[in-house]
Amino acid sequence: MWPIPNAKFAMTNPSSVIFMSSVAGIDSSKLLPASLREDFPILEQLVHGDHPLVFLDNAASTQRPRQVIDVLRRVYEHDYANVHRGIHTLSERSTEQYEAAREKVRAFIGAEKSLEIVFTSGSTAGINLVARSWGDANIKAGDEILVTTMEHHSNLVPWQQLTERSGAILKHIPITDDGELVLDALDSLLTKRTKLVAVASVSNVLGTINPVREIARRAHAAGAVVLVDAAQSVPHVPTNVRELGADFLAFSGHKMLGPTGIGVLYGREELLDAMPAFLGGGSMINRVWPDRFTPAELPAKFEAGTPPIAPAIALGAAIDYLNLIGLEKIQQHEHELCRYAYERLLEVDGLRILGPPPDRRAGLVSFTLPEPHPHDIAQLLDEEGIAVRAGHHCAWPLHDRLGIPASTRASFYLYNTAAEVDALAECVAKIRDRFRPRGRKRAPKPA
Ligand code: PMP
Repeated sequence: MWPIPNAKFAMTNPSSVIFMSSVAGIDSSKLLPASLREDFPILEQLVHGDHPLVFLDNAASTQRPRQVIDVLRRVYEHDYANVHRGIHTLSERSTEQYEAAREKVRAFIGAEKSLEIVFTSGSTAGINLVARSWGDANIKAGDEILVTTMEHHSNLVPWQQLTERSGAILKHIPITDDGELVLDALDSLLTKRTKLVAVASVSNVLGTINPVREIARRAHAAGAVVLVDAAQSVPHVPTNVRELGADFLAFSGHKMLGPTGIGVLYGREELLDAMPAFLGGGSMINRVWPDRFTPAELPAKFEAGTPPIAPAIALGAAIDYLNLIGLEKIQQHEHELCRYAYERLLEVDGLRILGPPPDRRAGLVSFTLPEPHPHDIAQLLDEEGIAVRAGHHCAWPLHDRLGIPASTRASFYLYNTAAEVDALAECVAKIRDRFRPRGRKRAPKPA
């Protein structure tokens, strides 16, 4: 609970400084033009009275530009029908656009063939598909599955469930106190019994960018299959599944300007081909008899039932938008904001930032203060219009490892500005001052 009701802090008004060309401490030549915010109608609002919305909860879910919203509306107003079934104009239009979106996804992640792109409802669904289909067919008692200590529950619990079903053993690549993988441990953890290495490309709490290519190289040398949880990297960093060495890679549309309810599982053709169908129903069959069926070709084999048609087409529009701006530029923008946020937040006495320094992290910063609790910090920030996330961020074992129950996370995307980072840092500093135990002075700044 928030212990001081109606506390108000004098804040920088972000909207008044958004169009500044240079902010002290930040290289504005590395930032994207703030004018692109005009594409995002939701960002224009005031919250809690007169506070401009400062949306820093992008690692949970991003906002959508008009270009994506317009495509959703156009599909529903003009082109919508079920796909792959009807021999009529709207079904043909829907099918054409749905398959065109698959091709956009293929190109976006550098896959060889569009049949390697399976539309799912999100990262969680994609990882569970692999655990149930590939896992149940390939994992036996005594086999080993290797994950890391920093995994999101979506890339942990499905493997725990698989080990429960199969009698396999789950092992973890440990992390340093700075939140980086102890790669030296990898060679001893990889054994001839290791069948799968499942790793996040970017941690949703620490921002750590994991050396996936190197992990995949060593995992393949040991004969293991590699699954990459790319929920926090595909939206932010140019991705090429073949260069990464990913056998499977999962991500979510809603974290990259797309709608909810659409995600992608990439799988190497050879693996997907050999895997049994997971969900059974319409669309995933070739022929059905009273007592048996034969599965459809890829990717339909893994898309049972009516898929998220309009969301998939709108994900294609989100990819068009990201391509127009350029992933390299987005990455540079987020990196600059993150570096600046890191510096500004560290000015707050007693504040602890989780994870590695800015040059080795993606665009998010999780932190704790001695007081108050992360939930109270998030609530106080919300009262000032700043949306962040607090809790264990679906990474409970990671928080246990770090010895903390929860953290507060600010995560950036292409529409965030340096002024919004200033607003965050100033507000956090005021929260810290307000909760400083009586009689305790601010620690002197290091010389
Ligand atoms: N993995 C990571 C690293 C994530 O950050 C998230 C979302 N917080 C997920 C998986 C799950 O994504 P979704 O909820 O879209 O399935």
